[in-house]
Amino acid sequence: MKNTYLNFFILLILLVFAIKIDAQTDGTRPNIVLIFVDDLGYTDVGFNRPANFPVEYGVVPTPEIDALAANGVIAKNAHVAHPFCGPSRAALLTGVYPHRICAQYNLPNTVAAQDGVTTNEKFFSKVLQENDYSTAAIGKWHVGVDTQFIPNNRGFDYFFGMLGGGHQYFESDYEPQWINNGGTTTNEYRVPLLRNTDYVNPSEFGNNEYLTDILTDEAVSYIGNHAADTDPFFMYLAYNAPHTPLQAPQDKITAFNNANGDGTPGSTFSTVVANSPDVLNANIPGSWNGTAQEYRDALVEDRLIYATMVSIVDEGVGLVKDALVANNILDNTLIIFMSDNGGKLRQAGAVNYPLSQGKGSVNEGGHRVPMLFHWPNVLPAGQTYDHLVSSLDLYPSFLDLAGVPSPSGKLLDGKSIMNNIITNQDSRPGESLYIMRPQNGFHNGAIMNGNYKISKKGGNTTTAGWKLYDIINDPGEITNIRSTLPNAEQIVNDLLIKGVDWVSDFKNVKPCWFDHDRPHPHEALWNNGDLPRYENLFGIPVLGVDDILENLVSISPNPTRDYLNFKFKTQVENLEIEILTITGKSIKKIKAKDLTTHKISVSNFQSGMYMLRINADKEISIEKIMKF
Ligand code: CA
Repeated sequence: MKNTYLNFFILLILLVFAIKIDAQTDGTRPNIVLIFVDDLGYTDVGFNRPANFPVEYGVVPTPEIDALAANGVIAKNAHVAHPFCGPSRAALLTGVYPHRICAQYNLPNTVAAQDGVTTNEKFFSKVLQENDYSTAAIGKWHVGVDTQFIPNNRGFDYFFGMLGGGHQYFESDYEPQWINNGGTTTNEYRVPLLRNTDYVNPSEFGNNEYLTDILTDEAVSYIGNHAADTDPFFMYLAYNAPHTPLQAPQDKITAFNNANGDGTPGSTFSTVVANSPDVLNANIPGSWNGTAQEYRDALVEDRLIYATMVSIVDEGVGLVKDALVANNILDNTLIIFMSDNGGKLRQAGAVNYPLSQGKGSVNEGGHRVPMLFHWPNVLPAGQTYDHLVSSLDLYPSFLDLAGVPSPSGKLLDGKSIMNNIITNQDSRPGESLYIMRPQNGFHNGAIMNGNYKISKKGGNTTTAGWKLYDIINDPGEITNIRSTLPNAEQIVNDLLIKGVDWVSDFKNVKPCWFDHDRPHPHEALWNNGDLPRYENLFGIPVLGVDDILENLVSISPNPTRDYLNFKFKTQVENLEIEILTITGKSIKKIKAKDLTTHKISVSNFQSGMYMLRINADKEISIEKIMKF
């Protein structure tokens, strides 16, 4: 007995020792730098810009980011889990769709907000921290300002930046009196920056230094401070650029403008962009207080400042890479660069060409984002990865890189993808990604699976409202192939069933907050039941988990060709089974008495999905079956 204990103890020590060695000293656990930018246009990085990009949109040079892409893998078909900031970040950090955790709206934009992403969900940063990673969050947070929600309490050893959804770029627009008096503002864009839980005295920086440069300096310092550590580090560098307000140093705007014309004498970035279709064809908003030409001039100026902001982010990325090189750790560092959602168009300055629409949309321009992976000698150089990638994939991928399992009982919506990135394999064959956002009284939605995407906007309540696209060959979603692709209806129906399954998990989850303190127009809609109405989005009844009594009955075989066997957990006196199409049309009703098993024929049904409403002595169960 003693020997057994002793052997067990030695084994345990060896195991722990092996894990420690493997984990920390042989270089298998990389440093991870996640550069997460804000509202960046899909083609406002060079590595994504197609040869036929119309130059009059304004070409934004990004040589540093492009150099990483050229030596790494470009994910051309990468998506975030939600088409705007807060929910996208909630999904990134928790690894689950924001709808599951009531985070499908931005948080209220006030420093006094009490809400935040639930602490029931462990962030990946916490798992990394618990497994000997040094962890830093630098930049924008946007998942909660109350103490329990701040970075230092969500797995980050070090935080520098701003807790809200954005920030003024120059100190002269801050309200520094906040440091001493609690301030006069609750505008999260104007409070001073934080280092961990303390406001940073603006005098720490140079004369009105630009925020993007300040964040870059912090990232470079962090790398220098941790390069020699035994343990690896994770750095979440979340630039708020190029999110509005559009602000950049005037000398850099001027220099950018002069350096980026089309080569003809006197040409500048502005003179080129003045001929952009976005400018020439702009609809003048009713709220615009000026002439049409003044509006077009303003759009040109917006695009110029935005482009300058992107170029300063590009310089920052270069300095971060230089710091990794200078500290001799570039080869053991995975760098991921991506945007939190699609570029915001027009007055926010971005271009997503050839993707249609922008931030907030379920079109590709809303949720397909620029993304690259860089890890020398591990990832292939100069490759393009066309399979679906989701920001949800980063949580399980980071844990795999750290050699740790996901937290016990934790649901994760993404896939561990690094091996598939290396071998160019699909990480989710047959599985879908979902985009869904509430509008006034309805949801817009999109479901992606392999090459295909279906999407619906505008509140049409039937399955006929869904459009079908091949987003690999038609990323601009120009041609709806639902009426021309021979098996289109099958593809659409299969994806709708997946969508219904997806929302059934959180059918009864209401948003935990809305993005304004003032009464939000959606709040009443959720309270009176006009939202969510997921059945209106899909055109199919949606059953929540609460509606289904588990283990009342088992049905086999499913899928089936000829018949269904029902096996009940207890004797049923009065059984009623109603079979409905997925659109809710009743096609067959069966009644039977005093049984524990029952069999019905479906051999004369058409192939497809059906719903069964089973009433066994007034216990109701809804089940789905597939007939082939
Ligand atoms: Ca954003």
